[in-house]
Amino acid sequence: MQEASYYNKLDEVGRVKCLLCPKECVIVDGKTGTCGVRKNIGGKLISLVYGRPIAIHIDPIEKKPLYHFYPGSKIFSIGTFGCNLSCRFCQNYDISQFDPTEDLETLEEIRYFTPAEVVKMCKHYELEFLAFTYNEPTIFYEYMMDIAKLCKNPEDGHEIKTVVVSNGQINEAPLRNLLPYIDAFNIDLKAFNENFYKRICNGNLETTKNTIKIIVEEKKHIEVTFLLIENFNDNKQEFLEMCKFLKSLDENIVLHISRAFPHYKLYFKPTPYKLMKDFYDIAKLQLKNVYLGNV
Ligand code: SF4
Repeated sequence: MQEASYYNKLDEVGRVKCLLCPKECVIVDGKTGTCGVRKNIGGKLISLVYGRPIAIHIDPIEKKPLYHFYPGSKIFSIGTFGCNLSCRFCQNYDISQFDPTEDLETLEEIRYFTPAEVVKMCKHYELEFLAFTYNEPTIFYEYMMDIAKLCKNPEDGHEIKTVVVSNGQINEAPLRNLLPYIDAFNIDLKAFNENFYKRICNGNLETTKNTIKIIVEEKKHIEVTFLLIENFNDNKQEFLEMCKFLKSLDENIVLHISRAFPHYKLYFKPTPYKLMKDFYDIAKLQLKNVYLGNV
C-alpha cells in the first residue's frame, strides 16, 4: 500500500489532515477523505488507487480536448476512480463517483499496474503521449507523479510527453512539484461564479483560477474547457468576465466551449446550438482560439 504525500498527522488519536487539495479533509482512523480514495489506516494516509487504474484507452489527443498540442496524435490515457468534486452534472460519474465498497469485494479485483508497466504499455503501442484523465488526476497524485517521472527520465532515453486533464482543484505546493513533469494541461473552468462551484460542484472557483494562473506563468501548454449548461451557468456577463480573466493571463489560451448533455443528478436539456453560438461570439471578441465541442 502506497503512503500518500501531502498530509499531516494531527494528534495521538491518529487523525490526519490531507493537504493535497483545497478540501483539506481531516480524516479519522478507518475513514477516507471526500474523494473516497485516500484512507487513514492506523494514523497513516494511504492512496487506495495507487497502481489501480480502472480506465485505460488510446484516444485521439483532440478528445482530451487538446487542439493546439500535437494535433492528429494518439494518446495513451489512464484514470482511476474517485474525485474531489461531486458535480451534479458529471459527464463521467460512473468512474468519478464509483464506490468500490458497493461494487467490489476488494480493491485487489482491480488489476495492479506498476508505473513502469504503464509506461511500457504506452511504448508497446508506439505512443509518444500519455494523459492522466477520465477522473480527477489530483486524487491519484502519487501514481501520476511516479508515472510522469518515468516518462520524463526514461532509462531507454525515449521520453514521453505528459498531459493532465483536471478540474484544477489542487493546492499550490503539490501543483508546483508536479509541473516539471507535465507538458500540457486541459483545465475545466465550470463557471465564473463561486456559488455555482459551491452549490453544484462542492468546490471553489478561486483554486481553479489560481491553478490556471500558475500553469500559464510557468509557461506550460494549457487549454481550458467550459461546459455550458442552459439555465445553470449561462449568464453572459459572468462568461464575459471569465473570458477577460483568461485574456488577462494570455489571449492565446485555447478555450473549448463544450455542449452539455444531462447526466448524473442534474436535469437539463442538451445545450441549444443558438446558445453555444452566442457564447462563441462573446469569447471570440476576447480570445484568439475558441472552439465549440460536442456539437
Ligand atoms: S485529495 Fe481527497 S482526502 Fe485529500 S483533501 Fe482532497 S478530497 Fe480530501
